[in-house]
Amino acid sequence: MTVTTTVTRSGLRAEVVSAAAVGPQRYGTVHNPARTREVVGEYALADAATIEHVVASCAAAAPLWGDLTGAERGRLLAEAAALIDTGIAERAHLLSTEQGKVLWESRLDVGGAPFLLRYYAELAERAAAEELIEDERGTSIIRRLPIGPTVVIVPWNAPVYLCMMSLAPALAAGNPVIVKPSEFAPLVLTEVLEIVSRTLPPGVLSVVPGLGAEAGTALVAHEKIRKVVFTGGTATGREVLRTAAQTIKSVSMELGGNDPAIVLDSAVIDDELVSQLRHAVFTTSGQVCFNVKRIYVQRSIHDEFLSRFREAVDQIAVGDGLDPRSTIGPLINRTQFDRARGLVERARASGARVEELGTRLDPDAWDGGHFMAPMIATALPHEAELVRVEQFAPVIPIVPFDELDQAVAWANDSDYGLAASVWSADTGHALEVARRIESGSVFINSHRIGSSDMSLPFGGIKQSGLGRNHGMWAIDECSELQAISHRPGKDFPGPHNV
Ligand code: NAD
Repeated sequence: MTVTTTVTRSGLRAEVVSAAAVGPQRYGTVHNPARTREVVGEYALADAATIEHVVASCAAAAPLWGDLTGAERGRLLAEAAALIDTGIAERAHLLSTEQGKVLWESRLDVGGAPFLLRYYAELAERAAAEELIEDERGTSIIRRLPIGPTVVIVPWNAPVYLCMMSLAPALAAGNPVIVKPSEFAPLVLTEVLEIVSRTLPPGVLSVVPGLGAEAGTALVAHEKIRKVVFTGGTATGREVLRTAAQTIKSVSMELGGNDPAIVLDSAVIDDELVSQLRHAVFTTSGQVCFNVKRIYVQRSIHDEFLSRFREAVDQIAVGDGLDPRSTIGPLINRTQFDRARGLVERARASGARVEELGTRLDPDAWDGGHFMAPMIATALPHEAELVRVEQFAPVIPIVPFDELDQAVAWANDSDYGLAASVWSADTGHALEVARRIESGSVFINSHRIGSSDMSLPFGGIKQSGLGRNHGMWAIDECSELQAISHRPGKDFPGPHNV
């Protein structure tokens, strides 16, 4: 079998990395969301034989990678980080071209990869450390074992950062990994991973580009894959769980959200609050899992808030992500665009007021991309479709409330539970409200990338996810815990020792 490795840049092709591409490849195309006629590159549609070969190579690498010491794994991850420290500006440019987001966001996305590799390189030794318990019963050891061949499935909205958030802890915990990028943004990610794979033993990191329903399903279904770390939509998450159930494998999931922001009458509606909330709603044109997706404002400050917020949203400039004047870029693809327009049209038809705000930087190019103006929807109830779904678009419903209990009930009245925020100058009161919210994270007076970090667990409750990411929590998601105990001698009385 021939072994071919990719160089993504040459012809901008995302190929299978680190293992064989078997037979002639079929390719899918990546289009620029800002100029949809422009083809940015191609990605291989990995076929069944290729997937079989990649999984075999991943499984073959498992004992070697798992047997390295934590320090050795950490050293290799740190070496990989050094290799991707350079070229961030060029990759950010390419990411804005394939994904549409503005350049500073692409720089954060790509620049986060070496940061995360170093972070988990540091934790690798701790991950491998054994905990010794000595008491009157004897001696016990608790240790983490790698789970085995792992598949990391990645969405398109922050492809490099989100991939690394799952990949780095999985590798640090001693698992070999196969990454399945999104078909909508596979190019930069494949390039980064190809470089990272150079520092690792063969088979420890592979990339399998392809369609979710083909390559994604085949990888999740494979009996040799023991762990799946999935980031994507809730509906896809259900499919992945169904597929994974056939071989009873461990699954961690970061899924969709419909994050509420509750603005209390004790909030001071100043520039800081308005700008933070604008950021919370419109980053990546609303296409972030934990962007604010609905705002509940106490009625006594509703009009003041709406007027200040509208002013701030009207400052947004919509254009090509590569244009430094752009505040937001286009939506990722036609499906997402049509879905968002449908939500807005149905909201209008049911009596909501939807204002289109902001500036079109290049009106002539507007229809050539998936551009959507930032929108504020009012005069709609909490029960409205636009309030209750994950819009994943630059449109935000604002609903007034009278009593705090009502706002808390509305915030919790969702199948999702990823994140939420409470806005108030009285942080003590905001904290009390935060304790009543059903979500994995609750932020006070902020709601954005940075509101959570590696020192805090991140993940969704209800249908927003399974398990927790960040820090040692992510390592534990990718580890089996083993207990070894030597307890000779006398019986120890008590309910836990029967
Ligand atoms: P998606 O669910 O459509 O796709 C995600 C990935 O799953 C892609 O790589 C896709 O190819 C793959 N896939 C699709 N069908 C599959 C199947 N049957 N089996 C295996 N893999 C399959 O999601 P998306 O549109 O790429 O991303 C947007 C969604 O992701 C939003 O709902 C967003 O909230 C969510 N998201 C969540 C987080 C989080 O941390 N909670 C982060 C980012 C995005």
